[in-house]
Amino acid sequence: MNISEIFGEMVFNETVMKERLPEETYKALKDTIRVGSALDEDVAGIVATAMKDWAIEKGATHYTHWFQPLTGITAEKHDSFISPKTNGTAIMDFSAKELIKGEPDASSFPSGGLRVTFEARGYTAWDPTSYAFIKDETLCIPTVFCSYSGEALDKKTPLLRSMQLIDREALRVLKLFGHNDVKHINANAGAEQEYFLVAKELFDLRKDLIFCSRTLFGAKPPKGQELDDHYFGALQPDVKLFMRDLDNELWRLGVYAKTEHKEAAPGQYELAPVYSGVNTATDHNQLTMEIMKKVALRHGFVCLLHEKPFAGLNGSGKHNNWSLSTDTGKNLFSPGSSPQSNTLFLLFLCAVIKGVDEYQDLLRASIASAGNDLRLGAQEAPPSIVSIFLGDDLEGVLTSIEAKEDYEAGTMRTLESGVNVLPHVRLDNTDRNRTSPFAFTGNKFEFRMPGSSHSIADANTVINTIVAESLRIFADELENAQDINSAAYRLIRKTVREHKRILYSGNNYSEEWVKEAERRGLSNRPTTVDALESLILEKNVELLTRHGIYTQRELQSRYEISLESYSKLIRIEANTMLEMTRKEIFPAVLSYEKLLSETINSKKLACAASTAPEEDLLKRIAEKNTELYSACIRLKEAITEASKIKNNLKLAQFCRDSIILIMNEVRSSADALEELTAKDFWPFPTYEDLLFNF
Ligand code: ADP
Ligand code: MG
Repeated sequence: MNISEIFGEMVFNETVMKERLPEETYKALKDTIRVGSALDEDVAGIVATAMKDWAIEKGATHYTHWFQPLTGITAEKHDSFISPKTNGTAIMDFSAKELIKGEPDASSFPSGGLRVTFEARGYTAWDPTSYAFIKDETLCIPTVFCSYSGEALDKKTPLLRSMQLIDREALRVLKLFGHNDVKHINANAGAEQEYFLVAKELFDLRKDLIFCSRTLFGAKPPKGQELDDHYFGALQPDVKLFMRDLDNELWRLGVYAKTEHKEAAPGQYELAPVYSGVNTATDHNQLTMEIMKKVALRHGFVCLLHEKPFAGLNGSGKHNNWSLSTDTGKNLFSPGSSPQSNTLFLLFLCAVIKGVDEYQDLLRASIASAGNDLRLGAQEAPPSIVSIFLGDDLEGVLTSIEAKEDYEAGTMRTLESGVNVLPHVRLDNTDRNRTSPFAFTGNKFEFRMPGSSHSIADANTVINTIVAESLRIFADELENAQDINSAAYRLIRKTVREHKRILYSGNNYSEEWVKEAERRGLSNRPTTVDALESLILEKNVELLTRHGIYTQRELQSRYEISLESYSKLIRIEANTMLEMTRKEIFPAVLSYEKLLSETINSKKLACAASTAPEEDLLKRIAEKNTELYSACIRLKEAITEASKIKNNLKLAQFCRDSIILIMNEVRSSADALEELTAKDFWPFPTYEDLLFNF
């Protein structure tokens, strides 16, 4: 197969635009895409017609505004191109208005009170900076989703706002260093997507997987991932076929699917794309998750995107690789070869350090969810504490700047003196610390906290904003400086002095780090409920509203929605547990108990051998069963109690402090019973079946 022939064939991309649009229109559209200038309706009309003709040739019959509401997944509402004629026939039509604006009946999407009922119909607006594409015979038009008063009801609008912000502030700094050729700065992201595959026929037998996308029960199998024999292992033929098929679909949609390999846990895999602008990267990651699920089904698998489908095994994350680059092709986090670009590099590096330190809690909040709570801090993923890993070389450079000393170069490192005592940095492979939540990896930062099911929009919105805020402060200061290089040097020193507490190169999974971080005064918000509070803390609200990323109402609504979905999710899990226990586990255990007692009785009648083993087993099962029964009663009561709590925060706290704890008790008794019960009696597939037998 020739990849270049199929790549992007379902995308209304620059090549297609150039081919199909009059030159004027193409230029106007390109300006909008590149520079963000407004598009007038005449131009949009021509684009709409060209898009429709192209889509129909590709077999499309419908179109949809494709948007990303606060549910975290994408939404679409299909309309056909059909337009009736007075003579009873129909033509295929698509107008500028239909391209530019949509009014999905969106009253059921979460809005956190932003929409009152009489104005419930939020509207979608075309985002020409992300290419339209065809999926399932439908022309998908990427859009933002807002209320009538213009408040964002989606994840894309704030992201686009943050892209404009970082473009503006980074450009100010660049201009000060004489880079007048640069017109735009792009924030880029490459999202490494982890996931599990399980056999569809086994998935269908587990209510927890069906309703919660994770297992709520499951005793530890004799073998887990302790041998590390899955990581990067050879792919089973059926998985390989799935991946080929997946690549194919993604390539046709213009997604640069690049690397695929097995991950640490059995049944766990990863797909990494080539990075792109954060807007496209966000859309593409959403598409990737959707297509993964769809293609998996074709191959007899179900793709699990949950952050922690299996207890005792690694969970799945989504490493968000982030960088800034100029429209002239320069990566601003690449140390570069000239001392001048090196000053710039260190300044941008410091902007990240300052931003991450000052807004640790916002970063933590941007990746908060019930699923991710199970993963963060589980000795396999970064803890809830945010810190930055720079690598020894770079940390050494910064320390020496702070101490005003020359950096002592090791044998592997080359450090030359630059302008105004700034050392020249050459980096070999810096990434030796896989435990860091925010690691500098040579020419980009890898934010490792996002969960596998998350949209990367929230995290990138926060990263863009907090780095832009540092750059704004830097630019303010440098614009008034007499000597820009020494002013930059002073800024770098000051930043290191004030924010070095956020730098950590040790083992982030260790107990000592938790204590050390506390000593350093770093924020540690272990659960989603604690983390979300950051969204409404004054310092964060001030930052985000001042830069127009969110309004106060948008933040408040997001806070409420996130708390609400946390509590809903926990309660769905709790109810699923009860259902599985009542309808499956108890009956199964009962049958096994019956067999045991019958065996004991018949043995006794035959007055043959001792019945001690059966009696002992029966006793142990009965004990665990009593435990399970009592935990279930308490869980049921807690669910009833929860239903009486009206306040979102109180309810979420109750879920965290009561329901989850009782759920853990239910699970532990049930898992003990699984170990005591004969395999034939156990009512659903075990971890062994799910992870090793397909
Ligand atoms: P890893 O060691 O984490 O596997 P890779 O070099 O394979 O590192 O990159 C992982 C991801 O980072 C890929 O999605 C890649 O496209 C992305 N990436 C690479 N360079 C950049 C960059 N400059 N900006 C953003 N993402 C990048
Ligand atoms: Mg990585």
